Amino acid sequence: MELVMKKDIVVIGAGPAGLSFANSLANTGLNILLVESQSKDALSDPAIDGRDIALTHSSEKLMTAMDTWSRIPADEIFPIKEAMVVDGDSEYAMHFDRARIPEEMLGFIVSNHVIRKALYDKASSLENVEILTDVSVTAVKTDEAAAEVTLSNGETLKAALVISADSRFSETRRKMGISADMHDFGRVCIVCRVTHEHSNQGIAHECFFYGQTLAVLPLSENESSIVITVSSNMADRIMSMNAETFSRHVEGQFNSKLGRMELSTERFPYPLVAVWANKFAGQRYAVIGDAAVGMHPVTAHGFNLGLKSQHTLARLIKDAHKAGTDIGASALLKRYEFAHRKAAKPIYLGTNAIVKLFTNDMPLHRLARKAVLRFGNAFPPVKRIITRQLTETSG
Ligand SMILES: Cc1cc2nc3c(=O)[nH]c(=O)nc-3n(C[C@H](O)[C@H](O)[C@H](O)COP(=O)(O)OP(=O)(O)OC[C@H]3O[C@@H](n4cnc5c(N)ncnc54)[C@H](O)[C@@H]3O)c2cc1C
Repeated sequence: MELVMKKDIVVIGAGPAGLSFANSLANTGLNILLVESQSKDALSDPAIDGRDIALTHSSEKLMTAMDTWSRIPADEIFPIKEAMVVDGDSEYAMHFDRARIPEEMLGFIVSNHVIRKALYDKASSLENVEILTDVSVTAVKTDEAAAEVTLSNGETLKAALVISADSRFSETRRKMGISADMHDFGRVCIVCRVTHEHSNQGIAHECFFYGQTLAVLPLSENESSIVITVSSNMADRIMSMNAETFSRHVEGQFNSKLGRMELSTERFPYPLVAVWANKFAGQRYAVIGDAAVGMHPVTAHGFNLGLKSQHTLARLIKDAHKAGTDIGASALLKRYEFAHRKAAKPIYLGTNAIVKLFTNDMPLHRLARKAVLRFGNAFPPVKRIITRQLTETSG
């Protein structure tokens, strides 16, 4: 006879979004199972993947509330004190400083593997959360009464609700018949770290050059995270440069502003594809994290939005559970869908518009790019809105 395991919620994917969701439902008495295709070792001691994640104040608060911020070692949290955006070969910069927000920092940078470790540490300590590793989900179906998930080990799970948190290319979202708009930017983002001679002073730089984009994000005083966005052809060329040539290339691109630079880590390439799921919820089913919205990294909103999605859904579930009502009710899931689409859409469309404008080097676009930066600087209310949007502060 086939064995059926019963759970309240099955979460597919123990990445940052899935783990956060489980942590948000800590000690609720809800029986949660996370299913992850990676091994337990890969979750408890995640490999470095080159991503240094810029986190907003709102994300810091969410991570604090789920008792995971304090699990990040203090020397792995790097404050962003100021930010500069420059365009083309001009030295003119749009400048974001702390004067515009009540907080002392614009935000923080923490490596993805460090975030994942902190989230796993907490989730694996919870009595109401079980994490099944080395197993992937091969089928999902739902009806009015329950959701059913089939695992690669042949087991079947039944739950009141199933959540996909299995990346922007979510296979289970597809299995549930939810389509997604995907935009392939035809570009690749290369991430790594460099050490440098002069202090970065906690200032983040986003340089929209012609043909490529360079972001220099402050870590410790003499180390920064580098994000280079280029066409796929150029990415191959940059990836094949030896460390010395690469270091001189980045140093030259940055006009030696931080003095001599040396590549200090491996380089990791990420092809850039933005994804917008056409529905965030279905019958006893919802998508969170990148499975709902996969962002271009230029505005650094991907995981910040992922945190928001899981928080919105977890809060509704907690309320329903307290009230003794169905945690997989369609009215609840619709409320989640409405709230998160409303929060994410402007950020998703705004980010794609920025990418479109700042990667188009035609003369008219070049003019518009310069005008946008000058307009932003000249009108403090506009800059305040952008700052608030980027840092998620209320000031
Ligand atoms: C270069 C780069 C820079 C970035 N910078 C920032 C930034 O500065 N700020 C920011 O907020 N965000 C940033 N992001 C985005 C951020 O990394 C993502 O939003 C975040 O990692 C997504 O988390 P997730 O849990 O939704 O998905 P993922 O991290 O993709 O995790 C999905 C998990 O699901 C598992 N899985 C997949 N399929 C199955 C299956 N069938 N069964 C079981 N398990 C499955 C996978 O193994 C994985 O563990 C950046 C992204 C990139 C690429």
